[in-house]
Amino acid sequence: MSYERKMLEQFAMPTQTEVEQALLRALLKHGGVIKEFGSGQEIVDEVASEFGLNESQRSVFLETIYRKENRVKKSLLWHRLLFRAADALAKNNLVTRPTQTFQLTKKREWMLTEKGFDDSLKLCKIPIARKEFLPTKSFEVQKIVKKLTETRRTEDYDPFDKDKKTVKSIRESTLRTRGFRQAVIEAYSCRCAVCGLKASSPDTLSWEVEAAHIVPHRYKGRDDIFNGIALCRFHHWAFDVGWFTLLDDYKIETSPQISCLPLDCGKIEGYDFFQALTKTGLELRFPDKHEIRPHQNAIRWHRQNVFPRP
Ligand SMILES: [Zn+2]
Repeated sequence: MSYERKMLEQFAMPTQTEVEQALLRALLKHGGVIKEFGSGQEIVDEVASEFGLNESQRSVFLETIYRKENRVKKSLLWHRLLFRAADALAKNNLVTRPTQTFQLTKKREWMLTEKGFDDSLKLCKIPIARKEFLPTKSFEVQKIVKKLTETRRTEDYDPFDKDKKTVKSIRESTLRTRGFRQAVIEAYSCRCAVCGLKASSPDTLSWEVEAAHIVPHRYKGRDDIFNGIALCRFHHWAFDVGWFTLLDDYKIETSPQISCLPLDCGKIEGYDFFQALTKTGLELRFPDKHEIRPHQNAIRWHRQNVFPRP
């Protein structure tokens, strides 16, 4: 039995498989990414606490003697175990290594792959159908998010994707939809652009806010950041049916029909949903970075095609 194995037994450490599963659960809890262990002491402690490791289990060192160089190299047994588990996950293509993630996000983190995402959902007994709506990062989706957020804004932007139907597979289209959703929601810091509502599910895994297409999906509207806006469910609906639209300078214009609504319409306790839209000086919350705000060509289409003119 190797020295390391002996130490693992002596200190009654968890098995590598148990640590692999704990890492997958932690990854899901932290939105798909965790820091590399050298600089992510919180995650090292968090997983240790999950196993109820005591102080000596957390702090015992392995000592490797390098005879030639006449020196002893010390490494924490718990860190070694964590690293071995994460390394095994990477070998099975369930996570990407910090060096690989760094090339994409410039952060040294372990990141779930799509395969790892599926496994972590299974482990946490979360129905796979929920995957669609979770903002959890996966390497494949992050690649799309990066592409969407780095696409250059051009004057002659075309909000229609004429090839939309020719998407090769359901998987590819699902990844694209998730990439669109994540890029838009993150650009708006998970808030509705109109009312600023920010709310998550009780397990904090998913946000209430939705990524709305300005030129809708059914008209082959593009799944990109220039054709997207983050809206809560109420405002998403109101935008899609034409209760309000946007002007080129990102101010809101409301339908004149609002003044004809019956008195009992759109009231929530003391709050008047429709009148709140007409408030003068209503400031919408768009990303600070102008290049990723909705494109005028997309909002112009919405004004001309969805917004009713008398
Ligand atoms: Zn809202």
